Amino acid sequence: MPEIRCVECGMGIYIDAMGTPYEGEVGCPNCRTRMQVYVSQDGSRVERKYPSYNELKEVWEILSEVEKKSISEASLSLGVGAYTASEMMSLRCLESILRRIYGTSEMLGKLIERMENDNRLSDLKGILSYFKDVRNRVAHPEKVSSKLEAKSTFQMTKRLLIEIVNRLGR
Ligand SMILES: [Zn+2]
Repeated sequence: MPEIRCVECGMGIYIDAMGTPYEGEVGCPNCRTRMQVYVSQDGSRVERKYPSYNELKEVWEILSEVEKKSISEASLSLGVGAYTASEMMSLRCLESILRRIYGTSEMLGKLIERMENDNRLSDLKGILSYFKDVRNRVAHPEKVSSKLEAKSTFQMTKRLLIEIVNRLGR
């Protein structure tokens, strides 16, 4: 029986796989983290089912309830393969915090322009142009997002949120 390690707490967990290759969902009995497990002849791969946002701990209390919920839903959607929904929730979270900070009800495209012209964020050109592209892509109803796109947007959203709070929001 193969043994895997919990990605969160490191606990060893035995997988009751009848045969390989095996793919399934496992919950850690210690910390309850849900994981997606792939076992094959060559070994096993363990992935967190719902990507973590522990990095946001330092800014969490600055976020509104809707923003917290949006990040949580972006993670949940990613875990179940709803990649377009996940990207939309990530963008929605950014849009919400930027509206609060800039005191406006503009749409995300305008808010990204504001950030580009904000000298407190001038070294973040790469990440801002990334979000410009994502916004344009997600705004097209005839396109759907890939897993890779949703994952990277989730990552980048967390990074940008931390920068926004630290530089503009405290
Ligand atoms: Zn665990």
